[in-house]
Amino acid sequence: MKYALNVFHIESMGTLDGPGIRTVIFLKGCPLRCHYCHNPESWQDQTENWMDHDVLFSLIMKMKPYFKNGGGVTFSGGEPLVQSESLIPLCKRLKAEGIHIALDTSGCMLSPTIKALLEIVDLVILDVKHTEPKAYADLTGGNLAQTLEFLEYIQAIQKPHWIRQVIVPNYNDQERQVLALDSITKSPYRDKIELLAFQSSGMGKWKANSPFMDVVSLNQKTLVKLQDSIKKNV
Ligand code: SF4
Repeated sequence: MKYALNVFHIESMGTLDGPGIRTVIFLKGCPLRCHYCHNPESWQDQTENWMDHDVLFSLIMKMKPYFKNGGGVTFSGGEPLVQSESLIPLCKRLKAEGIHIALDTSGCMLSPTIKALLEIVDLVILDVKHTEPKAYADLTGGNLAQTLEFLEYIQAIQKPHWIRQVIVPNYNDQERQVLALDSITKSPYRDKIELLAFQSSGMGKWKANSPFMDVVSLNQKTLVKLQDSIKKNV
């Protein structure tokens, strides 16, 4: 049986989505509708771009010499869990070649197939978009409880993970909110919490359809201060 993945974009030498230098494969499809999504066009499957596993495997293997300092491949999105079934055989092939695999996800779904995929990957980068249920639902259209169930599962299987959150001015930029993120996600298997600054430049594709349209970018000083508050919260 031939497998393929519906691919939105490929970054061959990424440095932001996981340790070391990484090939980042952005997959199409996402059930969430985050107001700050930089890739809303990845939600739609009408413009499909199916790439055969053999093609993706060769492309990743070509980059292997650059995967130093813990580098490897990251499957991102969209929401990569949407394509879990097809990801499993590709990830198995990559694991057999000693490639480090990270999964960059919102954790908005869980199923036996997703659990099987989680067994294979080395690192989960879990984007917990907000820690308050109503704000989470308003921001994403999804349900915080599903992300927390996903988090509980990766903790139970002792899967190394990073926690991420995009910090939006006047939305989730209070110290108490960041400390809540730290407390809710505390685990011996959490390697780090990474706060990312909201960037207004990424809103260009929204054509005024987002409530965050006029929000300014988060300044670096605030981001560093919030990140420091987590370090002190031991
Ligand atoms: S989870 Fe990611 S891809 Fe999906 S809507 Fe949110 S920001 Fe966009």
